Amino acid sequence: MLAARIVKPGVGFEIDDVEVPKVGAQDVLVEIKAAGVCGTDLHYSRGEYLPPLPRTFGHEGAGVVKEVGSGVTGVKVGDRVAIHYVISCGVCKHCMMGNDNRCRQRVSIGHDVDGFFAEYVRVPARNVLKIADNVPFEWAALTGCAVSTAYHAVTISGLRRGDTAIVFGAGGVGLHAAMWARYFGAGKVISVDLVDSKLEAARKYGADVTINPSRQDVLEIVKNETDGWGVDAAIECSGSHAAMEQAIKAAKGKNAYETGSIVSVGLQLKPFEANFMGLREGRLMVSGDHNRKELAEILDLEASGRVELSQSVTKHISLGGINDAVNMLATHQPGVERTVIDRMSR
Ligand SMILES: [Zn+2]
Ligand SMILES: [Zn+2]
Repeated sequence: MLAARIVKPGVGFEIDDVEVPKVGAQDVLVEIKAAGVCGTDLHYSRGEYLPPLPRTFGHEGAGVVKEVGSGVTGVKVGDRVAIHYVISCGVCKHCMMGNDNRCRQRVSIGHDVDGFFAEYVRVPARNVLKIADNVPFEWAALTGCAVSTAYHAVTISGLRRGDTAIVFGAGGVGLHAAMWARYFGAGKVISVDLVDSKLEAARKYGADVTINPSRQDVLEIVKNETDGWGVDAAIECSGSHAAMEQAIKAAKGKNAYETGSIVSVGLQLKPFEANFMGLREGRLMVSGDHNRKELAEILDLEASGRVELSQSVTKHISLGGINDAVNMLATHQPGVERTVIDRMSR
């Protein structure tokens, strides 16, 4: 089968012919129908944050079950499924609390083990969730990371109805963070990005106010939009340390006794400055990824039609286009919200 792998750091992906994985008793083999290209894959492609190589990447995926292991119950050949990329033990402290994303034995598909940029993937049967017939594979794929990471971040921010939220970054995660902030009842959503076309997209996802920091003063606008009180929730999705510093400042306002919550979502590969003066009763959090329950919740919202993602996938490619797809992420090409691989050919 074909798989997009990184074999050497810093030279991008190569398309290799590899063995179809053999399923164990508790595994299923899924034929991938859609795999999203995430900002994290850009990091991998640049040689950052790499696990031992070679590795097949891809952690947003959905497809059809082709084979089930001898001990598998509840999943059958032909099922349409989304795949949860977190393999967890089920018995550690965090798993027992429902936070399988914090599992002490955690293994990440598309990082620690081979992922979805391939014709087939082998995963534990309990990592697949059946999707309704009206949920397209590409929605289910996106839900596995971009949509669910944003859902988790907005959830842990503690956003309440009527709150003001600011979202830094209007890429795959940031756009959906704006969408969820609005869905959860934010009174005002502010989106920040250096690229104007991304800010236009942010408006379509629910941003009421957009800011381009290359020519506008973020903190001044936040002050005006919040009557000087600062935002209730600041969600940083860009990975920029300058944005992280601004997120912290945006959550501070004229109430000396209270600060909004700040959630760091984008990978902060470099240190950023956090001035704790003025942060009070607020929360500075680093959001990881979603848990299995959240993934199921979002798939239900899609099945019922309450949430729809038709504007989220703006480009379809074959597996062989993977390097172009990550380059498009790097160069911020306008109108490319999310690229999905839907043909596993060269
Ligand atoms: Zn991702
Ligand atoms: Zn566990």
